[in-house]
Amino acid sequence: MNSPTSPHLPASQGGTPVRAKFLPISVPWIGEQEKQLVLESLESGWITTGPKTADLACRIAGLAGTKHAVCVNSATGALHLALEAMGVGPGDEVITSPYTFVATVNVIEHVRATPVLVDIEPDTFCIDPAKLAGAITPRTKVVITVDYGGHPCDYDAIRAHTQPRGIRILNDAAHALGAAYKGKPVGSSALADVTAFSFYATKNLTTGEGGAAVTDDAALAERISLLSLHGMSRDAWKRYTDTGSWYYEVVAPGWKYNMSDVAAAIGLGQLERFDEFQERRARIVARYHAGLGDCELVRLPGARANVTHAWHLFPIGLELEKLAIDRGRFIQELRAENIGTSVHFIPIHYHPHFRDSLGLGPGAFPVAEDAYSRAITLPLFPRMSDADVDDVIAAVRKIATAFRR
Ligand SMILES: *Cc1c(COP(=O)(O)O)cnc(C)c1O
Repeated sequence: MNSPTSPHLPASQGGTPVRAKFLPISVPWIGEQEKQLVLESLESGWITTGPKTADLACRIAGLAGTKHAVCVNSATGALHLALEAMGVGPGDEVITSPYTFVATVNVIEHVRATPVLVDIEPDTFCIDPAKLAGAITPRTKVVITVDYGGHPCDYDAIRAHTQPRGIRILNDAAHALGAAYKGKPVGSSALADVTAFSFYATKNLTTGEGGAAVTDDAALAERISLLSLHGMSRDAWKRYTDTGSWYYEVVAPGWKYNMSDVAAAIGLGQLERFDEFQERRARIVARYHAGLGDCELVRLPGARANVTHAWHLFPIGLELEKLAIDRGRFIQELRAENIGTSVHFIPIHYHPHFRDSLGLGPGAFPVAEDAYSRAITLPLFPRMSDADVDDVIAAVRKIATAFRR
């Protein structure tokens, strides 16, 4: 039979798209449990920070293996308050990665400290411990590690540089809830002094918007908690219940970063299936590896032997030298095949603000820049079916083959 279109021809050139229906890069999976718990909160008469937020904090501390957890309205808020609580301010330097979401670096500016960027490792896209040593000065107060995509940084190698100098580690673990390094859960004080998680809509566990800071340090936890609600010395829900008191004192000009019980209810529902979510992510990754492992036109992300990867992202790297199109065009072609993708991340120093404030241009971080030029993040979320995964594999192979140089 003669078909007017060919399955091998890119959809952008009139071929049949791999999928009829668009596949987004990530979709949250909200189940009956989440709906039930949200309803319970709505009907309880207590919808802001209260018992559900406290319950979620306990469970996040349990997952992260820490004594304390403070739930807030975003990972950005958790990172900001952690820097405040650690006393970071003007004149201090904070080292982090250029291959991250802007929130990681914005918070350094929020406390009027100076961001110092250090290039990443080519395999994990995490901060390169060997290069970290050269960026440390007497002013370095904190290193913000970023467990990129859910792969923990090399904490032993990082701590070999920071610990002797009394430099603290704040982990931006927005991608890494459920990950582990040498058997220690991300969050553990063996890795970082404070760890921030994100419960944004696309993250491995969501509350719609939300985040948490975890730590073993009671004083830091107390300070983060205080600063998350105006610097008031008592939580509102304790004030207004009959066991509490109307009295409070403001001991610092804090922020309004508290989590609502409606959001916490979503998180509590999600937590019941979190292990299942993580297992599904790992199975999808295995399917991607099986389906694309032999394709010489793309590089696949891996996990080092000593980590448990949280698999928040599946970023492939195009072998640009073997392709006739660039990354931007490859994304357009996948879009025409009805596959949604994204790029994680635009290097920090490529953004006009940081380019100007840090005075850095292209060439400053060759590994991050090279990774960025090749990067495409493929769909990865627990609700994807095996058929969805196979469509992504087919589309990547189709476009790579069609545009082989
Ligand atoms: C999503 C993300 C954040 C911000 O999380 P929010 O909860 O939206 O504030 C911070 N860092 C990284 C690396 C992220 O991907």
